Amino acid sequence: MGGTFDPVHHGHLVAASEVADSFQLDEVVFVPTGRPWQKSDYLVSDPEDRYLMTVIATAADERFTVSRVDLDRAGPTYTVDTLRDLHAAYDEQTDFFFITGADALGAILTWHQHDEVLKLAHLIGVTRPGHRLADPGLPDGSVTFVEVPALAISSTDCRVRVGRGSSIEYLVPHGVVEFIAKRGLYRNLS
Ligand code: NAP
Repeated sequence: MGGTFDPVHHGHLVAASEVADSFQLDEVVFVPTGRPWQKSDYLVSDPEDRYLMTVIATAADERFTVSRVDLDRAGPTYTVDTLRDLHAAYDEQTDFFFITGADALGAILTWHQHDEVLKLAHLIGVTRPGHRLADPGLPDGSVTFVEVPALAISSTDCRVRVGRGSSIEYLVPHGVVEFIAKRGLYRNLS
């Protein structure tokens, strides 16, 4: 499951759990992005902070793990590299599903080596019910969309709330609320 996770929230966790159930996955590997090359509209938090929040949020669920592949690889984060690194770390028989936000997947034709991405994993785009999706123009069967009501929660909204001094309790795991306060994240966004 790839994402910026700035911060990780309960929508991400519910989405991971729903997809794990539906596709009978043994493990969901959360992969926080290193340096998202297509983002310029806001300053993305330090990768180590995003990684630690993801570890805190997923610690209690034995199906969930967190990978550092995108943090430890130099240069911009490309999903083709993420998937190659994970393929190398797992048994050859392992089936891979790349889960991420449907909005992000909508732009996949602009991604680096997107043809190769399609060969390395089945794509799963998670979205909130009723959300209209742009057709990514991918071959039939290469992507599945899954509606997840909890994705009404968004990282942007969480950041804005912290910036204006509102609570994000229950939107993100309590440990993440405490980590954000301890590190002073998002305070200067309003
Ligand atoms: P984004 O543009 O920050 O997010 C787009 C939308 O998708 C937002 O609504 C976001 O909500 C949601 N979203 C993102 N990750 C999600 C997740 N794991 N589960 C549920 N919703 C999610 O997207 P991004 O985080 O930068 O990128 C997502 C993934 O696509 C990453 O793994 C990234 O490396 C990959 N990607 C690859 C390329 C490339 O290879 N060239 C280009 C772009 C993205 P929240 O903000 O609430 O999460």
